[in-house]
Amino acid sequence: MWVHVIGAGLSGAEAAYAAARMGAQVRLYEMRPVRMTPAHRSAHFAELVCSNSLGGEGETNAKGLLQAEMRAAGSLILQSADRNRVPAGGALAVEREAFSQEITAVLQANPRIEVVRAELTTLPKDGVVVLATGPLTSDALAEHLQDLLGEEFLGFYDAAAPVVLGESINLDIAYRAGRYGQQADYLNCPMNEAEYRRFYETLTQARRHTPHDWEKLEFFEGCMPIEEIARRGYDTPRFGPLKPVGLPDPRTGREPYAVVQLRAEDRRGQMWSLVGFQTGLKWGDQKSVVQCIPGLENAEIVRYGVMHRNTYLCAPRLIEPTLQFRRHPRLLVAGVLCGVEGYLESAATGFLAGLNAARLAQGQEPLVPPEESMLGGLVRYLSSANPDNFQPMNANWGLVPIADGKGKKADKRSRMFRRGLEQFQRWVAWALPAQPGPEDDPLPASAEIPAGSA
Ligand SMILES: Cc1cc2nc3c(=O)[nH]c(=O)nc-3n(C[C@H](O)[C@H](O)[C@H](O)COP(=O)(O)OP(=O)(O)OC[C@H]3O[C@@H](n4cnc5c(N)ncnc54)[C@H](O)[C@@H]3O)c2cc1C
Repeated sequence: MWVHVIGAGLSGAEAAYAAARMGAQVRLYEMRPVRMTPAHRSAHFAELVCSNSLGGEGETNAKGLLQAEMRAAGSLILQSADRNRVPAGGALAVEREAFSQEITAVLQANPRIEVVRAELTTLPKDGVVVLATGPLTSDALAEHLQDLLGEEFLGFYDAAAPVVLGESINLDIAYRAGRYGQQADYLNCPMNEAEYRRFYETLTQARRHTPHDWEKLEFFEGCMPIEEIARRGYDTPRFGPLKPVGLPDPRTGREPYAVVQLRAEDRRGQMWSLVGFQTGLKWGDQKSVVQCIPGLENAEIVRYGVMHRNTYLCAPRLIEPTLQFRRHPRLLVAGVLCGVEGYLESAATGFLAGLNAARLAQGQEPLVPPEESMLGGLVRYLSSANPDNFQPMNANWGLVPIADGKGKKADKRSRMFRRGLEQFQRWVAWALPAQPGPEDDPLPASAEIPAGSA
């Protein structure tokens, strides 16, 4: 049975490689150069459209754990990144052209992979399908997906608020309450008048990210960025998302001057997003704004707010942690489309989707990595997050169980790193075939980039 992988970006390249490595016969569809996206510049697979970094490294870095897991999984993206790395002070950065050229050559030379350069406008009807068409999925295919899944399941922009790590919130200041005595599901950060004034000034002086033309959004009232709300007047935020009515502070019995509410992002309550706080501010300035909110003075931001065009699914309503669609088990999804953010996260979900697609094609049960691993935490989050206003997520320490015990933050993170990697290594050694075949040689000496692919 064929495994069809649609899209040869970060996730599709890794999915095709993993499925072929599992012994599946793969057809990999890529529309470039026949039809380009607004951001890609070449016909290479796994093109890095913006930065050339796959994230920070090291034992205290959540992306570092995901990189280590991908190395343990024999990832093509990580092998190529390691071979083409450039110095970047603690981050895994690559020479982008050589990186994606190499990946293209490896996949094109693989006897189990047939490359088809064409835009798919509907899904193949036979075999197992991995959907990996990314944030710039072509319009025709996006329309087809809307028909298949329902309009409400496909998002076309990110209007995301910052998400902070629960353990970094100061609970001596933030208090639990629901408006007008409703269920106390929210954490509330109270401000007095002086604190509000300082917050307002910091917010209105913060710099905005300048989007590319095609990234620009028409704002509508429901997802107005907080900086735009503030621009409309001094009191506008506190009559909008920061309104304090019905939220008396239990320590004073009175309603504060303004309140920033936080809502849990995950079932364990390890990640909290700022309600109504979608923002397109530059990240450094965003941090200053968040940290001048009482209770968030030491907040660790695990996902920054963004406002830009994107295409992604409401994953919690649609998919299993195996990356299969609940209602279409032979259809899997990976990359930005499945609700992750970042090159590395896209490639990692591509690995799992490719592995599971091959298993399904071979009549085996699909798998989920251990919950202590970063990939396991990420796919569990996708399938179980709060589906209301779901926004794409990147690798962060809030996705895996926090390590027990006291001690310095860095020591705790190192313990979580080692625990996650150990569990992942054990799992992946069992999940992957013991003996790699000749086609697993990352770059056969004879591999050349065929004409027309550069
Ligand atoms: C402008 C922009 C900048 C970004 N910058 C960064 C960054 O700096 N760092 C970071 O970590 N992440 C960044 N991202 C987010 C994300 O990590 C990347 O977009 C990443 O490439 C996503 O991987 P993917 O596999 O989901 O999609 P892609 O890598 O985009 O791959 C999807 C592939 O599918 C193809 N395709 C689309 N429709 C069809 C179709 N109908 N038929 C056949 N092929 C099709 C596309 O041509 C493309 O090659 C950025 C995203 C965008 C949009």
